[in-house]
Amino acid sequence: MTCKLCNNPADQDNSHIIPFSLIKSMVTPDEKKRTEKDVTFDLTSTGAVQFYFGRELIGDKIEELLGREMTEKEIEQNDNPFTIDNLICTTCEKKLGRLESLYAKSIVPKVSQLNGGASSSLELDETDSLLLKAFFYSIVWRLGESKYNNYILHESILSKLSTILKNVLSLDEIEIVAN
Ligand SMILES: [Zn+2]
Repeated sequence: MTCKLCNNPADQDNSHIIPFSLIKSMVTPDEKKRTEKDVTFDLTSTGAVQFYFGRELIGDKIEELLGREMTEKEIEQNDNPFTIDNLICTTCEKKLGRLESLYAKSIVPKVSQLNGGASSSLELDETDSLLLKAFFYSIVWRLGESKYNNYILHESILSKLSTILKNVLSLDEIEIVAN
């Protein structure tokens, strides 16, 4: 498999389809715990509540949350639904991480101010709004490219999004802003 953003081998495992910073409060029992300790509950499927426990989550905690031990079958099927293997390469994963950290640094504080009631409207300058666009494009692209939850995007849209990402992404945050 080759990386969907460049032609290197797609060697990145556990690549987050939806950036971890966006979902962590929904999926982790404790802010400080990282991916391997994720707990997620999927309430969207009818009939059954699906769950995922990160690999490092200890047995006691699982029992406490579930009210029982996991069965062998459940352990086998315990794949993290928010991550994907072999979609992109480690370099592109790092580049997406840089974009995510720019978003966290420049946009999140402004949105928090809005939510905290400190200001009643939010106006982003050109750089911030382009950054926000690129960040959302990167999520939509990942959802479409991985067909997450049967989310299908037309081939032409996927290719437009990946072209934009290829032009914007960089390992250097200053370069991302310049792009
Ligand atoms: Zn790549």
